Amino acid sequence: MMGKNSILWMAWSVMLLISVWAYAAEEVIVYSARNESLIQPLFDAYTKETGVQIRYITDSEAPLLARLQLEGTRTSADLLITIDAGNLWHAAKLGVLASIASPVLMQNVPAHLRDPQNRWFGLSKRARTIVYRTDRVKPQELSTYEALGDSRWKGRLCLRTSKKVYNQSMIAMMIAALGEQGTERVLSSWIANLATDIFSDDTQVLEAIAAGQCDVGIVNTYYYGRLIAKKPKLPLSLFWPNQKDRGVHINISGAGVARYAKHPEAAKKLLEWLSAPKAQRIFAKLDFEYPVHAEIPPSATVLSWGMFRQEQMDISRAGELQSKAVKLMDRVGYK
Ligand code: FE
Repeated sequence: MMGKNSILWMAWSVMLLISVWAYAAEEVIVYSARNESLIQPLFDAYTKETGVQIRYITDSEAPLLARLQLEGTRTSADLLITIDAGNLWHAAKLGVLASIASPVLMQNVPAHLRDPQNRWFGLSKRARTIVYRTDRVKPQELSTYEALGDSRWKGRLCLRTSKKVYNQSMIAMMIAALGEQGTERVLSSWIANLATDIFSDDTQVLEAIAAGQCDVGIVNTYYYGRLIAKKPKLPLSLFWPNQKDRGVHINISGAGVARYAKHPEAAKKLLEWLSAPKAQRIFAKLDFEYPVHAEIPPSATVLSWGMFRQEQMDISRAGELQSKAVKLMDRVGYK
């Protein structure tokens, strides 16, 4: 007959086995609108450190959100990763994200780069700034986004399409700062200064300036970083506008735990880990972006572009004012 102690010991071993098995079997399922090459290194590091498996699908923003909505409570998504506060705001509005109480995320992610209701959190920052042609423009000629509407830039400005969420968010934040009328004046003056038709992406804007089609434009800094890494001799440089007032427009990539996550705790842990120093250092290395964590510096290349004042306004405004921005751009003929 087995003694009481052996029975207890056996029960304890079985419990231990179950918990080890549960730990090993722990997984997180991610829906990502970010490129595989930009998330895989982070996931690999996480699995290596914790043993937690991460399965993911990547797709563009719209189908991913539609899928999450359609799947409803049956979804297998635990975490949604995407770019642009406008998109994250939209996802939260559709009700597919859960509100997360996490002192870790509060600590690691600055307040203006997360949802006031804690449904999404910025993980990396990108600056949307002015780029100019170094042999035709002196940086002293530049000052603010607004000033790109001055007559000196007539026929010299290149812009990306207003259909891209990056511009919708930038203009939404401009509305938050300058009001609708003020922003409308700026946009009209930009349109009057266009050198050519609008472009479908930031790289085309950079290439048009390099090719001499125009002299100034507005792009996300990582596109500049990517292009210069390939063609270091291009006569392009970045300029940080609005340093005496609201600062350079900053947007984020970010994530939120899915409302109907099957592994909500595991998803929260992954999200917290992504905001912490180790992952933030990986973010800094991946794609010329800026970490959101205040103590983690960007890469040496990104640092070489200089320090600058960044927009401090709540980035959730980019979502709130997005439809106003779209209507405004339409009204002034910004295609
Ligand atoms: Fe992009």
